[in-house]
Amino acid sequence: METKLKIAIQKSGRLSESSLKLLKECGIEFDNGLNKLKAEAFNFPLEVFFLRDDDIPQYVEDGVADIGIVGENVMLEKNKSIKLIDKLGFGKCRLSIAIPKDQKYQSLKDFNGKRFATSYPNILGDYLKKNKIKAEIQEISGSVEIAPGIGLADAICDLVSSGSTLFTNGLKEVEVVLKSESVLIANKKLKKEQQEILNKLLFRINAVRKSKNTKYILLNAPNNKLETICKILPGMKSPTIIPLAEKGWSSVHSVVEENQFWEIIEKLKSNGAQGILVVPIEKMIL
Ligand code: ATP
Ligand code: ZN
Repeated sequence: METKLKIAIQKSGRLSESSLKLLKECGIEFDNGLNKLKAEAFNFPLEVFFLRDDDIPQYVEDGVADIGIVGENVMLEKNKSIKLIDKLGFGKCRLSIAIPKDQKYQSLKDFNGKRFATSYPNILGDYLKKNKIKAEIQEISGSVEIAPGIGLADAICDLVSSGSTLFTNGLKEVEVVLKSESVLIANKKLKKEQQEILNKLLFRINAVRKSKNTKYILLNAPNNKLETICKILPGMKSPTIIPLAEKGWSSVHSVVEENQFWEIIEKLKSNGAQGILVVPIEKMIL
């Protein structure tokens, strides 16, 4: 029988769509019908399990799944014996401490002798210990943000992205305990064949991720400005230069990184570049 790599992803929640999208962008096709527990890819030796995110680290530790996608927050809280392979760049959020918004706050010391409600007792416990704060932790599994309002706790430690949930519950964020994003985790004892499939998958994931941060740029430049313009463009190797039908002009092609993008465009323009065209890159193999 052909060896397959088993990947666990969140069945339904904030990481589901991006996890599916990532596999799709890696060219992996499968039928993920509603309420399916697992699916087999048609064109890659991969089996996909759809699970609750909280269960994924355990399944990966046990080898029920070989790899999995979860938030770093879940990976750290569950503290299982697994390998962190890579950060994936989606599902960004922070695990923060929040208190009622009209309460004064000076420092972490304010929490000595206080009571926290959280779904992250391990991460919060370690954080308080590291900061030498003695407080009580009440573990609850959902709707943590209502705990102060109903007198269950003085403060909460919960996931935040925009902060709007905190705001509607009359809370304010006072400390960031952890910054988190989705990660790829793996079983510690993958067989050689599984490791090989994982390497192929990682190659594709990197190509997809690299392309997201990069744009393809085309522009026209007068020949006497070519040297300056080529210096502005970082590119993979050196830019491609093609003469235009109009004498004295060339077309220059290169790639630029998203975060340097605007700065580079401005420099190009002020150095005589015209007809600048920027297009997305679908995959990038280095
Ligand atoms: P499940 O039913 O699988 O247990 P869940 O309700 O525990 O789902 P979600 O709310 O879907 O989990 O969140 C999944 C992950 O998405 C979180 O663990 C976290 O890593 C990430 N995330 C990103 N932004 C946020 C946010 N604003 N609130 C909560 N989680 C977020
Ligand atoms: Zn969960």
